[in-house]
Amino acid sequence: MPAPSNHTSFQDAAWQKAICGICPAGCWVEVKKENGRLVDIRPDAGHPLGMICRRGEHAPEIVYSEHRLKYPMKRKGPKGTHAFERIS
Ligand code: SF4
Repeated sequence: MPAPSNHTSFQDAAWQKAICGICPAGCWVEVKKENGRLVDIRPDAGHPLGMICRRGEHAPEIVYSEHRLKYPMKRKGPKGTHAFERIS
């Protein structure tokens, strides 16, 4: 096993069991984090519900996408104008 570096603790570098939260199916997965940030994901081979779909494989991109909604939004103009305002 690799020794911890200055940038990543040993625990952060290890794969951890988790539930994929990208959709409501909640598949059993293992995730790898670096500096507290999700960097990779794979099926949990030790569980019967361990699987991952193509969307789940892209979980790190989805979670940190700059286009992801971060706040509840309310439409403030006519439909189709794509004008929204943050409501909290
Ligand atoms: S792996 Fe796919 S199906 Fe399973 S919870 Fe994630 S997004 Fe949903």
